[in-house]
Amino acid sequence: MIPQSTAQVEPLSLIKHANPPEDWRTQLREAYRTPQQLLNALGFSEAQQATLIADDQGFSTLVPKAFAQKMQPQDPTDPLLLQVLPRYEEAVKHPEFNDDPLQEAQFNPVPGVVHKYQGRALLIAAGHCAINCRYCFRRHYPYSDQKRARNEWRQSLSYIKKHADIKEIILSGGDPLALTDVQLFELIAAIEAIPHVKRLRIHSRLPIVLPQRITLELCQRLAHSHLDCVMVVHANHANELGKDVAQACALLRQHQVQLLNQSVLLAHVNDTLTCLKELSERLFEFGIMPYYLHLPDHVAGTTHFFVNLKRGQSLVAKMQASMSGYLVPRLVREEPGKKSKTLYSQS
Ligand code: SF4
Repeated sequence: MIPQSTAQVEPLSLIKHANPPEDWRTQLREAYRTPQQLLNALGFSEAQQATLIADDQGFSTLVPKAFAQKMQPQDPTDPLLLQVLPRYEEAVKHPEFNDDPLQEAQFNPVPGVVHKYQGRALLIAAGHCAINCRYCFRRHYPYSDQKRARNEWRQSLSYIKKHADIKEIILSGGDPLALTDVQLFELIAAIEAIPHVKRLRIHSRLPIVLPQRITLELCQRLAHSHLDCVMVVHANHANELGKDVAQACALLRQHQVQLLNQSVLLAHVNDTLTCLKELSERLFEFGIMPYYLHLPDHVAGTTHFFVNLKRGQSLVAKMQASMSGYLVPRLVREEPGKKSKTLYSQS
């Protein structure tokens, strides 16, 4: 079931003028790029900052202002802040946590393509994101080896052309919507030209963290495609879903883009029944189907986010007992070396 959005949004005529095409790029340029900038904006004193700021372990800070504005000032436990602020715990080493927990390298037939699932192939369209999430399973990914510059997509596309079983292309990254329209539209046109590809799935956190990226031009381009377009957004907490996100989602829905959400179950961020229920309800209001709830991967530097299977199952069971089935996401985990996700609950 795909929900109809009931969130209060501006009429389409106003939305048209809300996000000028280049606005999001300016906002991305102006994003916070150090913990100090972010904590200053949130009103933390120098003394508080001294206790909070830790080494970034080689994964730099990047937080769009639109996302930071949804954080509570001077609250070090804010669930949005915890997702993006480098913390001392990142230095903790654990033998089961490593740089490539999903061992994606073995499903990497040519640079820029992950062909793991039957009928689908994932294309690394961009080597960067609009936000750096501290728990990210690709935080150590060698994007510089894998990233396809605009004129280098040919090899990835030629692999897809040779595999007639691939019906769906998943644009991932990094974040594919971090590409400019010129780059993205060129890539979409090349995919459209492959006869056996029927669906385009875009995995992106931009509609949530930088909703100004959802311009009329982008939506019209997707609407004009003969491919069925699905956008899988990524929100972990109801506080991420403000009015600006509601507008972006409404615009996408008005252009026949189906919206699904995947979240990661993260300790101290969203690992309570109240948080998960609020998230699902807000997503549904915005016309987004709660789809996957991922158990965190064993990524080096992320032990403090870890939630175990038993707790995940208990939370989802409580959701199932207290809300409509279509509001309960599927609890899943990616297992290293496996060709499909392991499903721990079926909603
Ligand atoms: S937006 Fe997605 S790919 Fe980028 S850092 Fe966050 S979780 Fe990782």
